Amino acid sequence: MKKIIIAIDGYSACGKSTTAKVVANILNYSYIDTGAMYRAVTLYFLENFISLTNPHEVEDALREIDIEFRHNEKAGRSDTYLNGLNVEHKIRQMTVSENVSEVSAISAVRKFLVAQQQKMGKKKGIVMDGRDIGTVVFPEAEVKIFMTADMMIRAKRRQDELLEKGEMVKLEDILDNLKKRDLIDTSRSDSPLRQAENAQVVDTTYITFEEQVEMIIHLVSEKVI
Ligand code: C5P
Repeated sequence: MKKIIIAIDGYSACGKSTTAKVVANILNYSYIDTGAMYRAVTLYFLENFISLTNPHEVEDALREIDIEFRHNEKAGRSDTYLNGLNVEHKIRQMTVSENVSEVSAISAVRKFLVAQQQKMGKKKGIVMDGRDIGTVVFPEAEVKIFMTADMMIRAKRRQDELLEKGEMVKLEDILDNLKKRDLIDTSRSDSPLRQAENAQVVDTTYITFEEQVEMIIHLVSEKVI
């Protein structure tokens, strides 16, 4: 069967990655979490005290960064590796969430990661989620989804996710973080988050997870026949 590219963009904590993972599994496609790549760069910048306002420091740091995804057989998922170290847990922590959108607004960072993402999708057969996949990384993607959901539901879902990983964060802190990230992500000058012209909007507020997956699989089936 013909392989295609599925681009899933949208606000933070709308359920993009959970949906994308399941869709990729059903189709036997690869799943790429581009947010994890921006998070890994952010972690490196934080750990190495890189000044975001110093372009030379940023460029030099990017040259030292190697990001890869490796399958974690035991957990049944793909883990993010930064310079050979598994950082899957670290990149989901609040300190990274608090800084990631500022790092992601830097053009040099975007150029560095977008080139890698485009390479990963060369053979098609991928589901990629992020903020600029349907607009910048793969404007030619056959299926484009724009996910959104009510802010309170997003915050509660993120709180549950963090709690599952042992991190207890107040709902208002999560709300603040999501609002701040949405604002930076939608207003930055380089590839801001916006709905691609031909994207299908999926509002996950009132539909079940199964319905979300079904909608996307249906859109895919129309394209691959
Ligand atoms: O998807 P996730 O919430 O993990 O993404 C973390 C952050 O990375 C986003 O808030 C956004 O600032 C940035 N990002 C981006 N472009 C992408 C994916 C993520 O700017 N394609």
